[in-house]
Amino acid sequence: MATTFIPGDLPDEQLAQVLGQTLAGLYTGPARLPDRPGGRTAALSALKDYSGKDYVGRNDLRGHVSRLSMYLRHGMLSIVEVAEHARARMRGRDLSEFLRQLTWREFFLLVLAQDGAKVLGNLEEPKYRARWTDALPDDVREARTGLPCADAWVTHLVQGGWMHNHERLWFSAYLIHWRKVDWRAGYRFFREHLLDGDIASNALSWQWVASTFSAKPYFMNQANIEKYSAGRWCNTCTVQCPFRGEYESIEGQLFGGPVNPAPMPPRGNDRRGGRR
Ligand SMILES: Cc1cc2nc3c(=O)[nH]c(=O)nc-3n(C[C@H](O)[C@H](O)[C@H](O)COP(=O)(O)OP(=O)(O)OC[C@H]3O[C@@H](n4cnc5c(N)ncnc54)[C@H](O)[C@@H]3O)c2cc1C
Repeated sequence: MATTFIPGDLPDEQLAQVLGQTLAGLYTGPARLPDRPGGRTAALSALKDYSGKDYVGRNDLRGHVSRLSMYLRHGMLSIVEVAEHARARMRGRDLSEFLRQLTWREFFLLVLAQDGAKVLGNLEEPKYRARWTDALPDDVREARTGLPCADAWVTHLVQGGWMHNHERLWFSAYLIHWRKVDWRAGYRFFREHLLDGDIASNALSWQWVASTFSAKPYFMNQANIEKYSAGRWCNTCTVQCPFRGEYESIEGQLFGGPVNPAPMPPRGNDRRGGRR
């Protein structure tokens, strides 16, 4: 891509237009500015404003997550200064849970540094008999699956450039396990649209869900989606829900029976994730 000089004082409307021209061929959506400003000043201000209070409830879509990922991804904040801020402002389980999540980011970067381009292929065999197709289905890409939840996840991604971590987990499990699509199609979709889209956290999270970088595939059921979204889609949903059921029966439908966690590799070579 040719280097384009973009003056710092360009008005927002023109900035979106110039960015659209600069990114032509890399991004298919309409050119627009994100709802959060970029840059070091905005990043420091977002960090200063983040108290991390009740972070322990982060799995709920209404939970108090930081939304600092895009600043970390683009080098506007370092992981060390975010950790230092957390230690100064947060306490107890909020603090330990926040540092645990930051550690995932660092861990994924270290795996990328160690394995390089290998992270873009299966790091291990899937832990079940997986038959995946390569392409992202059009109805998924265009948010017209008919499932209010899945369509909303895609809308958040494409229109907002951001998804809550739980939505990313649900969407990736839906795509890989229900729609039987290769995780790499989802990885590319996320990289195109996420403001924090990167190689390490993105590829390795997809692989974690797919079970090519974890001992078991990740999947959810309707009760889990309903609980952590406070019923925002389920309360009014009228479609036949593919996620409805107990975990055991869904596991049977998706994987042909219980998937026993694969034995852990010898100590010292253990790269597998635990709970996310
Ligand atoms: C399929 C999938 C794809 C993902 N792709 C990306 C990606 O491209 N880029 C990216 O930065 N994150 C990715 N994540 C991880 C995670 O969803 C985001 O980092 C998080 O949602 C960002 O929101 P936040 O800043 O509010 O996080 P917070 O909950 O406030 O966490 C603070 C910081 O910790 C790090 N972090 C939090 N959760 C995770 C996690 N599960 N894995 C790794 N780091 C984490 C992030 O840097 C985040 O900014 C992906 C997760 C999944 C399941």
